Amino acid sequence: MTIADRTVPFLDLHAAHQEITEELDAAWRRVLRSGRYLLGSETENFEREFADYCGNRECVTVGSGLSALELALRALGIGAGDEVVVPAHTFIATWLAVSATGARPVPAEPEDRTCNLDPAAVTAAIGPRTAAILPVHLYGHPADMAELGSIARSNGLALVVDAAQAHGARRAGRTAGSESRAVTTFSFYPGKNLGALGDGGAVVTGDSDVARRLRLLRNYGSKEKYRHQIAGHNSRLDELQAAILRVKLSRLDDWNNRRRQVAQRYLAGLAGIPGLTLPVPAAQTDPSWHLFTVRSRNRDALGAALAGHGVQTQVHYPVPPHLSEAYAAAGWTTGDFPVTERISREVLSLPMGPHLIRSDVDYVLDSVYRSTQR
Ligand SMILES: *Cc1c(COP(=O)(O)O)cnc(C)c1O
Repeated sequence: MTIADRTVPFLDLHAAHQEITEELDAAWRRVLRSGRYLLGSETENFEREFADYCGNRECVTVGSGLSALELALRALGIGAGDEVVVPAHTFIATWLAVSATGARPVPAEPEDRTCNLDPAAVTAAIGPRTAAILPVHLYGHPADMAELGSIARSNGLALVVDAAQAHGARRAGRTAGSESRAVTTFSFYPGKNLGALGDGGAVVTGDSDVARRLRLLRNYGSKEKYRHQIAGHNSRLDELQAAILRVKLSRLDDWNNRRRQVAQRYLAGLAGIPGLTLPVPAAQTDPSWHLFTVRSRNRDALGAALAGHGVQTQVHYPVPPHLSEAYAAAGWTTGDFPVTERISREVLSLPMGPHLIRSDVDYVLDSVYRSTQR
């Protein structure tokens, strides 16, 4: 193994934040001086700005992406006795949100090529107890909303979309979260395309009844202090994070475009390497490139070789939810979801973010060449 003379971090948030230090300073000072730290004007303004950005009517901010999913399902009346079709291949939060409501996650396999939910597998997973379909725009690649929307409509099911990785992603000219009949959730975890300096999340929809219930659910079931209409939660975005997100939302398109440039260079530079499968955007999609995830049968060796060159990589995700300890009681075993299990053995995410300068990308490419030649 070589001793690296250079390090390419997987994601460097500090570099991006340095571009906006003065605006961030002004934002937190404004909140400090306002004397209002929850559910104030920063939150209200951010909700309007993010709804506009997505091209939809309503945005309700909450405490995290997981909470956004759970409360969205609850706002739709989903709970014990219901089933929700989820991708077998996703971050476990998608499943945990369903379980938290008392409903049962029913996994469906992804398409091998896109790693996104396979509409045919969704149809096969629908049964008499199914209440909703919950696709994920995984790695920032929008799922096939036209097809999934028509499956949901023809079966009378709700459509909840986990867009935690897809702020600003587009498919067929539509931005993630723009579907007025769906309920789309976002995470503002610091490492996402639009990230706070802590936890945060939001639900975006065109359904004002769902939005009204969410506003109750996130705040103890209360619209008026000490009058509680439903048994709610405490899950709110704070004013400080809202103020910071407003600054960062103004950079989102710029930062996403830089991610797109990195992706284009990776795609051009890595084409044709034997044994390496590249992420292919589906037709008419413009991903947010939250992650640039390649596949290799020798994933672990490739990751180790890249680490030797100082190139940081990650695996999204090494253990599928159905095989995780958290779901041991449900009784799934290895072989139940073979496409998912193969993907989880092969995926490797390369450094990706607005921080990557051209010479970093060149260095990653060179390191991959060296690591794949024997
Ligand atoms: C990050 C993420 C979540 C959870 O968001 P948090 O804000 O961390 O709770 C849910 N689903 C997916 C696909 C994610 O990537």
